[in-house]
Amino acid sequence: MEAAGDAVFRLDAQGIVLRASRRSTELIGPDVPLIGQPLASLILGADQASLDTAVSRALEATQPGKANVRLKTHGSALWVELQISSYSNALGEPELLAVGRDISGQQATEERLRHMATHDALTSLPNRSLLSDRIRMAIAQSRRTGHGFAIVALDLDGFKKVNDALGHPVGDALLRVAAMRLSDTLRDVDTLARVGGDEFVAVLAGAVSEAEVQSIARRMIATMQLPFDIQGHTLYVGTSIGAAIFPEHGDSEVKLLAHADTAMYRAKETGKARCVVYNKQKFTQPEHDVSMEAAMFQAVRDGEFLLHYQPIVDARSREIMGFEALMRWSRPGIGMVPPTQFIPMAESNGLINLLGAWVLKAACMQIRQFQEIAGRPLYVSVNVSPRQFRNDQFLDLMDEAIALSGLKGHQLLLEITEGILMSDPEHAETLLTEMAARNVRIAIDDFGTGYSSLAYLKRFPIATLKIDRTFIKDLPTSVKDAAICNVVLSLASHLNLSTVAEGVENEEQLQYLAKHGCGLVQGYLTGRPLLPEEIIELLKAGQPMRAATAFPQ
Ligand code: C2E
Ligand code: MG
Ligand code: MG
Repeated sequence: MEAAGDAVFRLDAQGIVLRASRRSTELIGPDVPLIGQPLASLILGADQASLDTAVSRALEATQPGKANVRLKTHGSALWVELQISSYSNALGEPELLAVGRDISGQQATEERLRHMATHDALTSLPNRSLLSDRIRMAIAQSRRTGHGFAIVALDLDGFKKVNDALGHPVGDALLRVAAMRLSDTLRDVDTLARVGGDEFVAVLAGAVSEAEVQSIARRMIATMQLPFDIQGHTLYVGTSIGAAIFPEHGDSEVKLLAHADTAMYRAKETGKARCVVYNKQKFTQPEHDVSMEAAMFQAVRDGEFLLHYQPIVDARSREIMGFEALMRWSRPGIGMVPPTQFIPMAESNGLINLLGAWVLKAACMQIRQFQEIAGRPLYVSVNVSPRQFRNDQFLDLMDEAIALSGLKGHQLLLEITEGILMSDPEHAETLLTEMAARNVRIAIDDFGTGYSSLAYLKRFPIATLKIDRTFIKDLPTSVKDAAICNVVLSLASHLNLSTVAEGVENEEQLQYLAKHGCGLVQGYLTGRPLLPEEIIELLKAGQPMRAATAFPQ
């Protein structure tokens, strides 16, 4: 016993230590009494059940019982493999011999192997198999506590391009940084897993409402939109997110993952850099939508779409400087359908390309007529949706609209949202450069409501910010809105951008905006969206018809 390199204990049938080898004392510490103590007291609580099993096996069978347990040593714990055999002592009573071999090295290796089997080698995040465990655990826990949780699927926008253009080492480094950034947005109770090339899934414990999910998603989107500095390259990616909440959107792991995925693709289709929460009604396209869709195709053919024009006026002189073209659908038997009700569908079924092409050409032609009546140059602001912007033919279409109408490039302003720029910055850069070459200007619509960083203001040639009406609505009484407007106006002035305040409905708002340097306003106060005939009346009826000296740049 004394010569053995292992820790050896002689025990009685109850597991009380009768004798211990020198090695045992060395390992456990000279001050710890061993003789007369149950062996179980020298072992970590969590491992005592394994010890009991091994002891019973040894007493019952002729085979030794085995257990891997942690021996309490000098204030820490050492993995030992215990082999316990029984024999009869001189008096014929059963006794036990327990031999403990140090297996801490082996255990560490096993732990590493376990880690490798459950984690992604590149990012060290949990992999699909551990994710699956965590989801099943979350489901079990939710069933017990009655609290839900959410699954979030995200995919990097534009990662493939980076990987293809700059090579895998850069791609890998980018993924590692992305994984770190995403982890930082989550709490310890959440799980973030990497489940494919540039695909991640997060389990958000206790996130049960759409608002909670959106707020976490916003953090994720924001952090991914910051530039990545990788091996001397400044890279922009971004992320689109889909979410599903347990149990409303699925009561099993498979359903939750599938629905989060569906929602993510929807987020990509509708402009990227956003989070879409799964919605059964919307995503399974009910009857009503199908008939609306059919009606829309019909309506394009029958010319039921028309344009309203809303004046955009100088905040000080109130002179009309231009118009925003706003689409309407005059649906027989139903009435005027607002664009918010049909544009998302046109966007998803591709009809927006057709409609958008018509809007662009019609609006340019119309402005031509307006300015002839007004006797001075005017400009037109046209909304461009993400799908149009991605369309390869968009530049040709723009050239055609300008050529047909005879407008100057700078008389056309295209309104896009921040998401369009961030979802595919390389494409945006190419397109915007082409537009700049034609003097066509770009406005950021609904400025301040997107999830973007401001980096794009530096990168892209933007001419105008349209301050969203949610910030104008409570001016000037709301201190917060006033602060936001002031900051946007000052930012625009320093970057040499013009500003249009949207949704100006009263005199106080206009006064405040004019005083704080907002160049242009648009809203019910200075003119509702009107039919071309009505605009013509307005122009004839003596708007201040002075020649525009300060054309908005
Ligand atoms: P938007 O580009 O931000 O357009 C401004 C919206 O604010 C318009 O709603 C306009 O009617 C409304 N508005 C203007 N002044 C006021 C005001 O004083 N108070 C309030 N409460 N609202 C005001 P509308 O026409 O319903 O358009 C909604 C959105 O639909 C537009 O938002 C734009 O994103 C989209 N849209 C409209 N026409 C087109 C189009 O031809 N193509 C595309 N792709 N999108 C369009
Ligand atoms: Mg607009
Ligand atoms: Mg807007």
